[in-house]
Amino acid sequence: MTETANVVIIGSGIVGSSVAYHLTEQGCTNVLVIEREAHQGKGSTGKSMGGVRAQFATPVNIQMSRYSIDFFSRFDDVIGYPADYRAHGYLFCATTERHLAYLRANRERQLALGLKNVEEVDAAGIAAFVPQLRVDDILGGTYCPTDGFVDPHSVMMGFMLKARERGARLWLDTDVTGIEVSGIAGDPPAMSARRILGVNTSRGFVSSPVVVNAAGPWAASVAKMAGVDLPVEPLRRQLVPTEPFADLPRRFPMVIDMSTGFHFRREGKGILLAWNDPEETPGFKTDFDPAFVEKILTRAADRVPCLVDAGVNPRRAWAGLYEMTPDHHAIIGAAPDVKGLFFTNGFSGHGVMHSPASGRITADLILHGQSELIDTRLLQLERFAEGRLLEETAVL
Ligand SMILES: Cc1cc2nc3c(=O)[nH]c(=O)nc-3n(C[C@H](O)[C@H](O)[C@H](O)COP(=O)(O)OP(=O)(O)OC[C@H]3O[C@@H](n4cnc5c(N)ncnc54)[C@H](O)[C@@H]3O)c2cc1C
Repeated sequence: MTETANVVIIGSGIVGSSVAYHLTEQGCTNVLVIEREAHQGKGSTGKSMGGVRAQFATPVNIQMSRYSIDFFSRFDDVIGYPADYRAHGYLFCATTERHLAYLRANRERQLALGLKNVEEVDAAGIAAFVPQLRVDDILGGTYCPTDGFVDPHSVMMGFMLKARERGARLWLDTDVTGIEVSGIAGDPPAMSARRILGVNTSRGFVSSPVVVNAAGPWAASVAKMAGVDLPVEPLRRQLVPTEPFADLPRRFPMVIDMSTGFHFRREGKGILLAWNDPEETPGFKTDFDPAFVEKILTRAADRVPCLVDAGVNPRRAWAGLYEMTPDHHAIIGAAPDVKGLFFTNGFSGHGVMHSPASGRITADLILHGQSELIDTRLLQLERFAEGRLLEETAVL
């Protein structure tokens, strides 16, 4: 007998889990999530730094963050499982007039969109958060106290457990190997009639009128199964934790040094160091490069001189994949040429923080054809062909 589902979601990371939750929350039945790994969280979600912030440059990202951070603040009550949301804030530090003007312009946009608690801070105010920071060249910055951190694994599990309580099914250890589309092999006149029939998996065929691509960095290859080109590229991202380090405060915001892009936050007793290496090239590279340690420690010691004393064990460092799009914004919505195929991809390093919004928007579009959360046209795949690109410059 053929398996059937009303909606198949490919990928059980934080985004696929959120879509499953939001669909079942709105009463959708027979939702099936398919994951090729034996456990959830083996993709980007398990590698994330867990940062959540509303300090973005574009209205759509600010709106998605506002919805998501409000959701995280209520997550434990609404979902019944913990998100470990910590409102420790994000502190952007500018060393040039250009960067300061950029932060001020962003703050105006954020205020206009209802994010009322973003403050401008001067160098002394910045030093008050982290007295060990070198501030002699810092001109000022911005701070938002409701930015902070979540535990990505907990959020993903909470979404999925709640979805399963409401009847969603999760198939682990099951590879989606193909997407069946009517008319896909036909001639061009048949293109408009292309629609989803189901997916081929290592457990057999599943018939479904709706398929959601939530395959993270692998989204382009999944889209290809339906004959669609999706501009999502994997880009390695490396994180370095220090050994226990008591010379910085026990609690402080995520601090971003805009002169280099170096940023850091407390992680338990140690410090988690992050830096976006501009020399990194796209590809499925998930090995940690030991040479990265010296590169990041140079930036760290320059901004926080006491970090030269921090111990680092490269074997505890790790690498994962960002899922980059050409304009650093997600692609969310229906595929233009394949009825029943939906994308929720390309979060360009923001998929954890935007998981509540992306799940809600995707569920709205599947069930109602529209969402009140954002102007969904902005994130459609068609924007690339139509030249309607967005540009998010606040990418960390
Ligand atoms: C080092 C690092 C730090 C980050 N820091 C942050 C941060 O601070 N804040 C933030 O918001 N974001 C951050 N991100 C980005 C964030 O982790 C991702 O945007 C997010 O996890 C994407 O979630 P996802 O569910 O779309 O993808 P994933 O978690 O990768 O899940 C996709 C799933 O699809 C499955 N899959 C793929 N193909 C198939 C197939 N054919 N059949 C079946 N299953 C399939 C995979 O196995 C995988 O489990 C970071 C990323 C990295 C690497």
